[in-house]
Amino acid sequence: MASPASPRQWAEKGTIRRITTWDEPVMHRHCPPVTDFGPALQQLAADMFATMAAADGVGLAAPQVDVDLAMFVYDCPDADEHHHFGVMCNPVVELPQGEDRNFDAAEEGCLSWPGAYQSLARPDQAICRGLNEHGEPVTVIGTGLLARCLQHETDHLDGTVFGDRLSSRARRKLNEQRETLRHLYPDDWPVTPRGRYDATVVDTDDDSPNA
Ligand SMILES: [Zn+2]
Repeated sequence: MASPASPRQWAEKGTIRRITTWDEPVMHRHCPPVTDFGPALQQLAADMFATMAAADGVGLAAPQVDVDLAMFVYDCPDADEHHHFGVMCNPVVELPQGEDRNFDAAEEGCLSWPGAYQSLARPDQAICRGLNEHGEPVTVIGTGLLARCLQHETDHLDGTVFGDRLSSRARRKLNEQRETLRHLYPDDWPVTPRGRYDATVVDTDDDSPNA
């Protein structure tokens, strides 16, 4: 069976699911690998594309829809503004070492801790190897935001959230931002859309990418 040719085609086959939050244990467990590439995985991928689009994200990992599997979807621009999308199962990320490694400090956000952003330095390139939705080997070379996304999503499958990579001070600020905005996100978000920002109360950078 041919795969959908665009993120939108994927999303049209899917149903929006609730996104889990960092308060839930599924976000902090190592996910077992995908071994069955049958119809259930195709439906999960479609549902995740639909959910990612509804939440305006650039990446979404299976534990973020309460599924304990090493798989994520992405729809994300690279440093040259070329959009990449796909399904990545059982990913392994390779980062540049030594002189080749440059860190990029940029605002990072997470759909499972929505509304909160902190600057986090990560290597500006990442090579991600894994399997696509058919179990075929794929390699994605990430630059710019895509490099960050590949690292962020693979972290999720190890039970690591980006808050775990922040200093305790930055994590405290992140949690304060989250508390300030928590009321805008219904328990079943994005099945029920987010409430509206009140710009008189909240000063937030709503353009930062989420994954
Ligand atoms: Zn995330």
